[in-house]
Amino acid sequence: MNEMKSRQFPSGKRKKTLVANWKMNLTEKEAIKLAQDIKGSLLSLSTSEIILCPPYLYIPEISQIFANTVVQIGAQNAFWKEEGTYTGEISIKMLTDFCKYVICGHSERRQYFGETDEDVNKKAKAVLNKDLVPIICVGEDEKAWKQGNIDTVLDQVRKAVAGISREDILNVIIAYEPIWAIGSGNAATADYANKICMQIRQLLDSLYSREQAEKIRILYGGSVTESNGVEFVEQSEIDGLLIGGVSLKAKEFIKIVKKVSKIK
Ligand code: PEP
Repeated sequence: MNEMKSRQFPSGKRKKTLVANWKMNLTEKEAIKLAQDIKGSLLSLSTSEIILCPPYLYIPEISQIFANTVVQIGAQNAFWKEEGTYTGEISIKMLTDFCKYVICGHSERRQYFGETDEDVNKKAKAVLNKDLVPIICVGEDEKAWKQGNIDTVLDQVRKAVAGISREDILNVIIAYEPIWAIGSGNAATADYANKICMQIRQLLDSLYSREQAEKIRILYGGSVTESNGVEFVEQSEIDGLLIGGVSLKAKEFIKIVKKVSKIK
């Protein structure tokens, strides 16, 4: 790997970004309870950027709960068309009143719903067109990981950002989420995750500029827990976390946020 000079804007000097992906979980009652528990404990914290991504159905209510707080709302997905004959889809235009972020190309969408890199690119561009922030997920499968091959990851990033302007790229968040680590209890090591995030940043450097690449937020996701979360965000290239399972447990999620917020 080519050595990249250390970042001019090291992650330690900036707010960490913590994304909670609730996936297809919780009843409405449970979602409200989780939101209220989080709200009760986190309102005083502004040192991290906290983004909750509930199922679509609960977004208006959850966004109401967090109105005028440090907590922002994101969607787990969206379609790139504005409106029309697309049964079952939700457009970005519909989300703009409630959300600031949209997850694009989560590996579960790629795996179970056949989302391609081209779809992810269209979604990311459509999200930016509405002045929202796309959280673009990329990651290699277990086979590629065992072979030490992360070409897929870099290819996913290259295709996802194709056609995104130099200005807009600064509003993109990349989440590096190795597929083998998601929901498996087998998180990547912080060192490995940092190396891959560094390669992603190098690619962004070659596509844009070094200064821009250094500013783009790159997160790690995959079996993050209260005990391993801090280690990831202490790495030079990792600007935050995307948290699935543990974000459904108020106590554990709050502990992660508090620990990460204490990092100087
Ligand atoms: C995810 O949903 O992207 C994720 C990382 O899940 P988990 O934290 O459960 O591995």
